[in-house]
Amino acid sequence: MKISVLLSNGTPSLSFEVFPPKTSDSFESVKSSVSEIAKLRPSFMSVTYGAGGGTSEFTLKIAERIKNEYHVPTLAHLTCVSSNTETVENKIKDFHAAGIENILALRGDIPADKLNDDRSKWDFVHASQLIDVIKNSGYDFCIGAACYPEVHPESRNKAEDIRYLKQKADLGCEFFTTQMFFDNNLLYNFLYRIREAGITVPVIAGIMPITNANQVSRAIKLSGSFMPQRFINLVDKYGDNPSAMMQAGIIYATDQIIDLYANGITHVHVYSMNKPEVAKKIKDNLSEIVK
Ligand code: FAD
Repeated sequence: MKISVLLSNGTPSLSFEVFPPKTSDSFESVKSSVSEIAKLRPSFMSVTYGAGGGTSEFTLKIAERIKNEYHVPTLAHLTCVSSNTETVENKIKDFHAAGIENILALRGDIPADKLNDDRSKWDFVHASQLIDVIKNSGYDFCIGAACYPEVHPESRNKAEDIRYLKQKADLGCEFFTTQMFFDNNLLYNFLYRIREAGITVPVIAGIMPITNANQVSRAIKLSGSFMPQRFINLVDKYGDNPSAMMQAGIIYATDQIIDLYANGITHVHVYSMNKPEVAKKIKDNLSEIVK
């Protein structure tokens, strides 16, 4: 099923993200986590893509399995920054051949050793170019892209970031999924700004349940997200107690999700990171809210 269709039916959606194995040795354990998450019957599942190409072949294998064996709508991520046009076109062809209908078109993070390269020589510098290639591939994919309520770290300012976001929508992107955020007011403010800028496509709110203290610094480093004092207090109190931290992190994420639904956000995507126990607890917490 196309994500655009799913998002248009007006009922609350709850989806989960998984990442593919880095090597074939861990394929079985990832497969087992993915299958447990699929049993929760999420609205859809997304599969990340290694920016350096490390896990790219497994993205397709896992996505194919989710769609064809577990019969859950599937969103396969695809990055372009380390690729050339031919490689990307072949990937798109492979996705189509595997029956994948939805692609999250991403630039990917620029590898450290390429930061000073002459970018005019690259086939892809921005996700918008990838959207254009997918749109003109001759296949009828539903295309999504990333957005950043707290602004992308490379952007000069919010206005510029939103201008380029509009470019992605104008090129044919049918929905956006947000970077993780821990204060819902940041999303509400962002939505106000993008709607004012004429971006009308649905936005899926990305929620990361923080279930251990180590994740906090990783999450901040990765996303630059603002951590509200309420959340910092919780990590200070329970960070050294793994089971208490897991419970508190799941409740914090659930609370964020309920507030989002209560304020008219219909679509929530949980960065469940191959942890079926976390996905299940969140789903159970919302059992009367998302049927
Ligand atoms: P872009 O849209 O290209 O934006 C990057 C920067 O360039 C922004 O500052 C933007 O304002 C600016 N920009 C955009 N277009 C233009 C233009 N035409 N001219 C000038 N400037 C422009 N990474 C992975 O490696 N694998 C994944 O699976 C993955 N999944 C993700 C899922 C989500 C929901 C999110 C939010 C991020 C994900 N990432 C993933 C990380 C993502 O690749 C990085 O955040 C990356 O730095 C930017 O990707 P983008 O697609 O947003 O890039």
